[in-house]
Amino acid sequence: MPELPDIAVYIDSLQAKLRGATLQRLRVLNPFVLRTALPPLASTEGRRLIGLERIGKRIVLVLQGSDGELFVVIHLMIAGRLKWLPAGAKVPGGKATLAAFEFDAGTLVLTEAGTKRRASIHLYADRAALQGSDPGGIDVMTCDVATFARRLTSENHTLKRALTDPRLFSGIGNAYSDEILHRARMSPVTLTRALDAQATRRLFDATRVVLAEWTERLHAEAAAHGGWPDKVTAFHPAMAVHGRYGQPCPVCGSPVQRIVHADNETNYCARCQTGGKLLADRALSRLLKASWPKHIDDLD
Ligand SMILES: [Zn+2]
Repeated sequence: MPELPDIAVYIDSLQAKLRGATLQRLRVLNPFVLRTALPPLASTEGRRLIGLERIGKRIVLVLQGSDGELFVVIHLMIAGRLKWLPAGAKVPGGKATLAAFEFDAGTLVLTEAGTKRRASIHLYADRAALQGSDPGGIDVMTCDVATFARRLTSENHTLKRALTDPRLFSGIGNAYSDEILHRARMSPVTLTRALDAQATRRLFDATRVVLAEWTERLHAEAAAHGGWPDKVTAFHPAMAVHGRYGQPCPVCGSPVQRIVHADNETNYCARCQTGGKLLADRALSRLLKASWPKHIDDLD
């Protein structure tokens, strides 16, 4: 989190505010956030924003200068967020403010709640270097069902793990994978190679529909808040199961279940997704042991 729908709305909002704007200064307020030494930070200054792209859960600012393009990649990880300030507004101080992109049109501020510093900024001098940072997941919104199926079964993992693997699929994390599996009425621990063609199609359709619905919903919410997504959260009240442990499933009314694993929680409805079976943490850790990342950072 933030995942594909959140990133898509950030990018559209940034397009509206910043396209054609000039970056006057990039202020890094916490040196840890900038993970590349070259190209130098100062080389971003005086460049015009000519494009915005998405790589997985990362936002790419394409900046044009007299010497060509330069790419700024912002990875929000779990708790990173972007704030928009009108030109001349004071950038809030405090530890949560990591960087400020001062454009002539206004200032984009990168913040991160909590104490863990996972959000990052990388600078790349050319597109080849940018592409080297791509974990390789395919865009489910544009691929066909055959490509989806090939990716899904390229390794025999649990559905939960496969959907959230940034090397397989682009932009799906813990929150939307819960929502997708609930919509598809599938258990998070079913193995990918156990799906027949019909089930694969159902998962493919659910994936696209859930991501499209959420992108549309978040767009509408941003539009109602001055054209900026100020309320990006992994625990949206409209979610069916994610972050709703113990609350009634919107389809069948049964209490939403959870599987706690390391820093992560998977939510599901037993009645809708596992034929009523509760997934014991013990059995689950056995199933997931080989394929579930030990640390949340490994989830991209
Ligand atoms: Zn249910």
